[in-house]
Amino acid sequence: MKYTLKRTNAWLEYQMFEIWENHFADVPRKNLVIIKFGKSSKRQLGSIKWAKDNTGIKSIMKKKSMQALHKIQDDKRITVITITKHFQSLEVPDYVVQSTIAHEMCHYTHGFNSPLNQLYDFPHQGGIIHRELTKRGLGLIHTKAKRWIKTNWVNFIKKNLLY
Ligand SMILES: [Zn+2]
Repeated sequence: MKYTLKRTNAWLEYQMFEIWENHFADVPRKNLVIIKFGKSSKRQLGSIKWAKDNTGIKSIMKKKSMQALHKIQDDKRITVITITKHFQSLEVPDYVVQSTIAHEMCHYTHGFNSPLNQLYDFPHQGGIIHRELTKRGLGLIHTKAKRWIKTNWVNFIKKNLLY
């Protein structure tokens, strides 16, 4: 996969902290949450997991700033949000990436792969994500992002597979 202009992990990090501050300020960050681009998945746009040895965060954890952030957490477990590598392309609008980040943050808020209390039985139970995003003023972005994916995703993938 080759994109002329690429988003970076630092950009993702900045977006997550912005969304957290502006829309999830009431949700405590009880452990270290890492966000990064993963493999070029076309079906799974984002995921949230507990860090295991194989999640490819070793290089991230080598950074002094990350070690410092980790050190101050009471809960030493690490949560990893992974975003599809395809979203590095600037052909994908910012709001699509932001909506995907916010989706994963809803899972964190609901206690899935996070130290917070689990609020539901299943992570995608009956529209809980859309309700959560709407409540947090992100409903419009979510709807717009879904529309962009529906209209453009298949062609975007086709075009980028030609490289
Ligand atoms: Zn989800």
